[in-house]
Amino acid sequence: MKTQVAMIGGRPSGLLLGQLLLKPGIDTVVLERKTKDRVLGRIRAGVLERGLVALMEQAGCATRLHAEGILHDGAMISYGDTMFRVDFTEHTGHPVIVYGQTEVTRDLFDAHEQAGGATVFNVEDVAIHGADTDAPHVCYTVDGVPQRLQCDFIAGCDGFHGVSRQAIPLNVRREYEKVYPFGWLGILSQTPPVHHELIYANSPRGFALCSMRNDSLSRYYIQCSLSDKPGYWTDAAFWQELKRRIPADMAERLITGPSIEKSIAPLRSFVTEPMRWQRLFLCGDAAHIVPPTGAKGLNTAASDVHYLYNALRDYYENGSPAGIDGYSEQALARVWKAERFSWWFSSLMHRYPDQSPFDLKMQIAELEFLRTNAAAQRAMAENYVGLPY
Ligand SMILES: Cc1cc2nc3c(=O)[nH]c(=O)nc-3n(C[C@H](O)[C@H](O)[C@H](O)COP(=O)(O)OP(=O)(O)OC[C@H]3O[C@@H](n4cnc5c(N)ncnc54)[C@H](O)[C@@H]3O)c2cc1C
Repeated sequence: MKTQVAMIGGRPSGLLLGQLLLKPGIDTVVLERKTKDRVLGRIRAGVLERGLVALMEQAGCATRLHAEGILHDGAMISYGDTMFRVDFTEHTGHPVIVYGQTEVTRDLFDAHEQAGGATVFNVEDVAIHGADTDAPHVCYTVDGVPQRLQCDFIAGCDGFHGVSRQAIPLNVRREYEKVYPFGWLGILSQTPPVHHELIYANSPRGFALCSMRNDSLSRYYIQCSLSDKPGYWTDAAFWQELKRRIPADMAERLITGPSIEKSIAPLRSFVTEPMRWQRLFLCGDAAHIVPPTGAKGLNTAASDVHYLYNALRDYYENGSPAGIDGYSEQALARVWKAERFSWWFSSLMHRYPDQSPFDLKMQIAELEFLRTNAAAQRAMAENYVGLPY
């Protein structure tokens, strides 16, 4: 098989880039390791920045997002029984949209299929060859049958555990990592959200987040130990712990019910540099990970897609390599800002096992400053709704 851009990974980064490139007629093939159902089975991001929404519009996939997504003009932050609101729209003029990553992926799949885009599921043994030559290609197997995909460029959109990043030689690649000493235990329940906006809670028992997918589907998280397993937590134990971590009036009105999904996510900050090696580009979680506290993972993947899409389009339409030459530097400049915000917000909201009494005082002082200072709230709001591309 031959294509112009081979995409490894068929979740948000790969599908969005593939769908955008189809518009100006750039040929792509998306290679995905899992089945479509398994890709759609993972519950992850839920808060979309306007940049991602604009890309979905550009890709012609935003109709359902606009019909069903919920505009959020702000979010609540609590510590102990103190709760305050940061108004995103007042400070920046922009809200965020709550719409599940699963739905974003479903919309992209549907649009890609309708537009005749090629996606190969269930690929195995994916290997990148010749990324530093004029004849790059990707080898893989489907149902045990070896295949070879010839291409001009390879977009590595295969997440943190994919093969693309590993294809960049070690003497070229630099990696920066911080692993947090806790995880997030999350549940999805068919219950109305406790509040119409998200609540981020810092409590002496650890962090909690009250989030949602729609009016009757809620997503709740609590900070947990790295040694925890979802099976260790009954639904009743989860609800009891969540109630202890959020302000008393919210705990009283929390409607509980059976979980329909329960999982644990470790928290990590990670960046690899460069994001381009010859004819291979990294995009999304393949190049960087953030702790989910700032809702930046999917949104930062989207900014990579924006830069890479424009770079490839410029190359194919105008013969200019300037965009692809500048991709890594341009993408990384925004990635590091998203990393900073996610690290800062995580540090502010979680309890760390080695926190000293002084560290705790600093955390509360910073929360007090954020509660009472308009400039601090504006800085937070600007980052939360997404820095411009
Ligand atoms: C609990 C949680 C909450 C989150 N909340 C938010 C949020 O509110 N907002 C936000 O912006 N982000 C959030 N995120 C982060 C977000 O989910 C990720 O950043 C996003 O999924 C990245 O998309 P991606 O396409 O780059 O990578 P992935 O979603 O990891 O997709 C990579 C794809 O590549 C495939 N693949 C891997 N290896 C191969 C291979 N060898 N060959 C072929 N295919 C391969 C995988 O099967 C997968 O489908 C959250 C994450 C978690 C865990």
